[in-house]
Formats: sequence, structure tokens, C-alpha cells
Amino acid sequence: MTTLIQNTVTGHAASATGVTKAYGTGATAVTALDDISVDIRRGEFTAIMGPSGSGKSTLMHCLAGLDTIDAGEIRIGETRLGELGDKGLADLRRNRVGFIFQQFNLLPTLSAEENITLPLAIAKRKVDPDWFATVVDAVGLADRLTHRPSELSGGQQQRVACARALMSKPDVIFADEPTGNLDSRSSTEILRFLRRSVREFNQTIVMVTHDANAAAYADRVVFLLDGRLVHELRDPAADEVLDTLKRLDSYGDSSGDSYADAPGHDESGQ
Ligand code: ADP
Repeated sequence: MTTLIQNTVTGHAASATGVTKAYGTGATAVTALDDISVDIRRGEFTAIMGPSGSGKSTLMHCLAGLDTIDAGEIRIGETRLGELGDKGLADLRRNRVGFIFQQFNLLPTLSAEENITLPLAIAKRKVDPDWFATVVDAVGLADRLTHRPSELSGGQQQRVACARALMSKPDVIFADEPTGNLDSRSSTEILRFLRRSVREFNQTIVMVTHDANAAAYADRVVFLLDGRLVHELRDPAADEVLDTLKRLDSYGDSSGDSYADAPGHDESGQ
């Protein structure tokens, strides 16, 4: 199917171009995304940050084909999501995107191994034993494969979820607050693993997070405010991320002001 052919020319694993999305209609309508454009570069770890309600989850859901948009265009690779029907979108979500959730979302009756290979089984794809071994080794779960989720710590469960997301070598893995339920040691393990997946396996990862320390593991942080992309940092340090968030919070609070007017805001995003 031509829509499933990956294009490696553009260097973009996913993109949103001029995307607008509102919830509700008329006087109660809320504009969650306001003409936003963002490219997710292949083989990069991108973090999405911004104050609560700035549109992070909506952007991620729209990029992943989990939600529809009102205007603009979303692509995964060169595939335009707007041109896919329900079946095409389901195929795309099954084969070309991976997900890691805050709550792990493992099936309690299945072993770690069965959870890891479940998406491939559903897609009727074969498990590559070498790749399975590589992924299991990378997450350090070789001696836990027969355990059920209830027999694993939170950190181990999230490592199962990471391995599950990697198994199909998706165009993009979307991680929604992946460390939100973990202690700091387990969070560090997960973030190191995500960064390693990008470096060693050339995996593309998009992560929504509130945590400046988590975002500092990313290659790039994009900041949203009121459904717009207002700033970006490359190779961010945690304190730079915190400073940017503080400025965004203060501009989000003062009605009518635009973040672009903030002192020290640099349009080039440097
Ligand atoms: P964030 O993830 O940054 O907290 P969201 O993407 O969840 O932001 O929300 C963006 C805006 O859209 C917010 O104003 C939120 O209240 C609104 N919103 C999100 N989901 C819905 C929904 N299902 N129905 C109505 N409004 C929604």
C-alpha cells in the first residue's frame, strides 16, 4: 500500500502544518490548537512542554492519529492522515506509531513477554527474535519475562511498556508523561532508555512532560502556549527549561499579552 511506504527523504518522522482544533461549538468552543506547525525530526527525542491547558495532549493525540483536526495537515512520514479512512488510520496506529502511557497500560493477565509482543501479534506480524533480545536486554528485563505486571515494580512495568513500543520499530513513539507515576530512580532509568533508543536504534520519540529534568534528556524541547508553539530549545539544560516555563506561566496568566512580547524572548528560538 503506497500510504504505508515510509519516506526517508524529508527527515521528518511526523509533522503538523497549520493545524487548528477546537472542542465544542459556538460560544463555548475552546481552541486547543491554534494554527500550529511543528516538524518532528527523524531520529530525535523531542519533548513537548507548556502550562496546563496549552494543548500538549491535543497536539500529541492529533499527531498520533488518535484525534481529528479542524484545519491543516498532519503527516506521519509522508502519509497525510487526512487522506486515510478509519481502516487506514487503524493500520497506521498499529504499525507506524508506538505509545507509552503514564499508567503503563499493560494487560494484567499476560506475562511481560506477551505484553511486549502483543501489538505484533494483533498486527499478525512475526517477532524478530534478534530484535526482541536486543530490546529486552536494553530495558534489562531478561530475567522478568515470565512475570505478570502485578509481580513487577512500576519502573519495571514502564520498561515493559517501552519495550512493547519499540518492538514494531515505529516511525514515532509518543510518550505521554512516561515518568509521571515513577520515583526518581525509575524515572531516570526510563529517560536514559528513551534517549538510548534514539541514539542507538535511531528511534524517533515525542514526549509530553511537565518535568524540566525529564525534558533535559530530550534533544529538543518545544513549548506551547494557548495552542501555539511559542519557543523551542535545543540540547536543553533543566534550568533553561524551568526558566522558560516560568516565563510562559506568567504570560499565560496576564491576559492579552503574547509570549512573543516577553523580555528576552528570541524569535529564532535559540
Ligand atoms: P495540556 O495537555 O497542555 O494540558 P490539552 O491539550 O489537554 O492541554 O487541552 C487544551 C485545551 O483544550 C484546554 O483548554 C482544555 O480544557 C481543552 N480540552 C481538551 N480536551 C477537551 C475535551 N475533550 N473537551 C473540551 N475541551 C477540551
